[in-house]
Formats: sequence, structure tokens, C-alpha cells
Amino acid sequence: MSKGTINVSVDNIFPLIKKFLYSDHEIFLRELISNATDATLKLKHLTNIGEANGVEYGNPMIEVKLDKEKKELRIIDQGIGMTKEEVEKYINEIAFSGAEEFIEKYKDKDGKDAGIIGHFGLGFYSAFMVAEKVEIITKSYKDEPAVHWSCDGSPEFTLEAADKKERGTEIILHIAEDSTEFLEENRISELLVKYNKFMPIPIKFGMRTETLPKPEDAKEDDPAPTKEVDNIINNPSPAWTKQPTELEDKDYKAFYREMYPMQFEEPLFHIHLNVDYPFNLTGILYFPKMTNDMNIQKDKIQLYQNQVFVTDNVEGIVPEFLTMLRGVIDSPDIPLNVSRSYLQADGAVKKISSYITRKVADKLKSLFNNDREGFEKKWNDIKIVIEYGMLTEDKFFEKSKDFALYPTVDDTFFTFSELKEKVKDVQTDKEGNLVILYASNKEEQHSYIEAAKEKGYEVLLLDSPIVAHLLQKVESSEEKISFVRVDSDHVENLIKKDDEQISKLSDEEKESLKTFLDGVIPKEKFSVQLEAMDSNANPFIITEPEFMRRMKDMQKTGGGGGMFGMGGFPE
Ligand code: ADP
Ligand code: MG
Repeated sequence: MSKGTINVSVDNIFPLIKKFLYSDHEIFLRELISNATDATLKLKHLTNIGEANGVEYGNPMIEVKLDKEKKELRIIDQGIGMTKEEVEKYINEIAFSGAEEFIEKYKDKDGKDAGIIGHFGLGFYSAFMVAEKVEIITKSYKDEPAVHWSCDGSPEFTLEAADKKERGTEIILHIAEDSTEFLEENRISELLVKYNKFMPIPIKFGMRTETLPKPEDAKEDDPAPTKEVDNIINNPSPAWTKQPTELEDKDYKAFYREMYPMQFEEPLFHIHLNVDYPFNLTGILYFPKMTNDMNIQKDKIQLYQNQVFVTDNVEGIVPEFLTMLRGVIDSPDIPLNVSRSYLQADGAVKKISSYITRKVADKLKSLFNNDREGFEKKWNDIKIVIEYGMLTEDKFFEKSKDFALYPTVDDTFFTFSELKEKVKDVQTDKEGNLVILYASNKEEQHSYIEAAKEKGYEVLLLDSPIVAHLLQKVESSEEKISFVRVDSDHVENLIKKDDEQISKLSDEEKESLKTFLDGVIPKEKFSVQLEAMDSNANPFIITEPEFMRRMKDMQKTGGGGGMFGMGGFPE
């Protein structure tokens, strides 16, 4: 047996590890299972290239074992293992210097900013966040004796020979008094599902009972036979790791249910992301059916690195308007140990974000081109994402011209260029601007809509809460176009096609009605449209100036909170 002092300049690193990582103790399990996975994949690689001295790779798994009585949690793998020299090198020296560097770097942080250090993989030593003593029993795939390393949280460790026969590594955590939650089966299950659900090597946690089909000759009342099988908690080859050509629509739907078991609504469509240059990124995004009561906060896009769950806070990585989507993105190229504001400025991350935006726009365009009718049917469920994207991302705004729809009150869907074509001879004002009429509420604005339709005008139905902002943006990107709500005074300015309509009222009647209305309606706020007397439905129409109305709408939605409480709108 040998004893030694871990090569570290701070007296005792463990209190520091505990303190600095305090908001995220649970990641120790992810780190240890990641190491076990790495060790197994390394062995796979060595056997593949014929450098594993005749070792059979077989079907290795990783096992997590809990012994509440003994207060022990074990992580056991069948990977490459470590020789004595390797333990000395990788465990005693290298890992520690990594930890030290980390502490050095974040010394003056108070440890509460999970955005910075919560996702920093401290690797093997994160075990000391929850354990008062950690043991490693390991046997290398090389023909060398097994070793037993043990450390009780001081910089002193022991290293001695062990009699482990099978290849691989067993990590034994003696769970500390303040961390007994990690001795609960439910808590460990929860963590395995959260972080390891899609890791590439099967992970066993206990046994479960499997119900088998009844034999042919079984009687009606005979219970179905059962058997005890390994409880494998993960799916080692999730859909996003496959090629799109290997998958059918039903596979994508099945994967959606696997990710969001509590979500009963089917997704509307998916986007498979798959790129390896200039950065590596895979993933599948889903457009969920947007409902008013949906929980955008809970079922979110998940970020993985090599099939290890990292976070479901993808702010800064995925453009804001796409955070309403669901699914997974997996990229080893996203730096994790940095703050959100750094992420937003990082070149690689910017490229990833614009790649995702482009893929989403391409998908929408192809859906629109391949099945316009189907796309129109989905419009109401997807418009909130699209309109928000048009408003906040200029590149997406440009691309959206190929698929963004403008529905009328009678459910005809125009693209913007179709719409311009349709109204260009009918709806212009004296300055030669194209005037596009819209309603925001079919019931409330019913009589205005009817009056406009009677004159042969198209009336759009634009009812999203951000519509006032969006129209402003469209107007400023187009020449000589103005949107006018159907109940605004501007409708009067349209050049009438047909001036010969005969009023049902005589000139005298008109005059006295006007005098009466002028007396009761405040001129600064509203104007009265007597032309509307010609319509069947309305003797007259009271309108509000467009700019005043829009100001009010913008005050309602704009400013501080932003549409989804995710920050404000750009100006
Ligand atoms: P990292 O995984 O980033 O290299 P860690 O602190 O997690 O850092 O692990 C340090 C090193 O210890 C690993 O690189 C590996 O060489 C070794 N190691 C840790 N766990 C295992 C294991 N289960 N099997 C074999 N080697 C391991
Ligand atoms: Mg590691």
C-alpha cells in the first residue's frame, strides 16, 4: 500500500469544491457516468482498431447501485479501467490541477451563478460534493493488477493492490451526512432520467418486472407470466443520432413522446438538424401546437453534448423566437462554462444560432411549397412563432416572404406578394400608397368589415398581440404601403372605385345627421364616416385615427415585458 498527498497547492480543495458548486451538487452523477461512458467507448475504439490485446468488447453496460444501509452509491463500468500509473497520473495529478484552475478562475464568484459554474464539469472530483469518502477499484484492460484508491476528502489518499478480476472501474461514494438525498432511489432515478436518458452505453439501475405474453394454451384467468429483467434507464441510440433517411414520420413522433411523456398533443412537424462543418450540431426540433394554456416554461428545448444532457436553458444559443419550439440540440461546440452574455457574443454560437434559424425557415418554405393547403390549416397554430421571428430576426423576416401568410376575414390566405397584386388596383389612396385593410377582431369590428367588403376591399384578419409592431416593420421594409385597421379614419382616404352609389338619405337628412353626430362625438378622438350610409348595414360609421389606435396597441404589448416575458422588443 502506498500513501501520498494529492498534488495541490490549496490546503484542502474539498470545502472549496463544495462551496463553489453548491447550487448544482446533483451533476456529480452525470460526471461519473460520463467518465464510465468515455472509458467504455475508449475500449470500443481500441477493439475496433485491433489494439486491445485480444479483449472482447461484448455488450458492456454501466451499473448504478444503491445501498442505503451502508450509505453507498456505486458506479460500475466495464470500460478500459486504469493501471496504477494511470490512477496516479489521471486522478492524482491532472484532474486536480483542472479543479485548481477552476477554483482560481472563479475564486471571487459567490457560487450562486449557475449560469457560469453550474454547468462546469468538474469531472471526477465533483464526487466530493456529495461524498465524504470516495474509492476507486479499477482493473485495466492491459494485463496488470487491479488497484484500489481511496480518499476521504483531505488531500491525502491511499493506493493499494486490489483483487478485482473483471476489467473496468468501480467508483464507490460514501455519501456524506448532508447529502443523504442521493441515497434515495427516487432521487437517483430522477437524475438518471434527467441527465443520462440518451447516453450511448446502456445504464442499469436495479431490476424491473417485465410482463410476458400469455402462452397459447393459457386459461382466461391465468395471470400473465412475468420475469425479472435489468432495468435499463436509457435509450442509447435516440432519433437525433440517426440519419434523417433512416427515420420515418412515426419515428419522429415516437421520439417526441419519449422526450415529453406528459405531452399528449402531437407535434405539427419536425426539423432534423444535422451539420458537421463549420461546427458540429445534430438535433430535432418540433413545432408544437400552440395553445393559449400551453406550458412554454416546462417542456423546453434540451441541450446535449454527445448525448449527455446539459441544460434546458438554451437562451443565447437558439434565437429567442424559437425557444417556443421543443426538441433537442446536441453540439460539442457550444462552450458551457461561460456566462450567457459571453455565449451571445461567441462567434461559433452565433453561427449555430443562424444555422438553426435558416433550417427552420427552409423547412417552413418547403412545407408551404409542397402542401399549401396543409400549411394554411396549420397557420393559426404556428403564426405566433413565425410572426415573432419576423419581428425580431431580420434574416428570418427576409426569408419569411416565401411563406408568411396574411389571412382574410373570410379565410383566404395570401402571401404578401399575392396580397399586393390583389389590391393594387382597388385599394390606393390619393398619394398612390397601397392601403391594406385589416381587422383585429371579427365580432367587434363586424360592421366596419361589412362596409369595407361591400366596397370590394379585402380585409385581413390579423389578431396576434404583436401585430401592431409587425405591421410597422412590414411598412418600413416596403415602399408605399400602409396598413389601416378597418375601423380607422384612414379608410375614408381610399380612392373609391364606384362613386355612383346612391345614398338612401337625402342631402338634408345627411346634413342634420352630421350636425347631430358632430354634437355628441368628440372630434379629437373619433371621426364620423358618412359615406358608410351607402352600405346596407350602417347608417354611419365612427372611426378612430389609425395612429392613435396603434399607439394604444403598442403600449399594451410593447415596452418592458415582451411578448413571452422574455425581454423586450427591438425598437
Ligand atoms: P475528464 O473526464 O474531463 O478527463 P475527469 O476528472 O472526469 O476529467 O476524469 C479524469 C480522468 O480520469 C479521465 O480523463 C480518465 O482518464 C480517468 N477516469 C475517470 N473515470 C474513469 C473510469 N471510470 N474509467 C477509466 N478512467 C477513468
Ligand atoms: Mg469526466
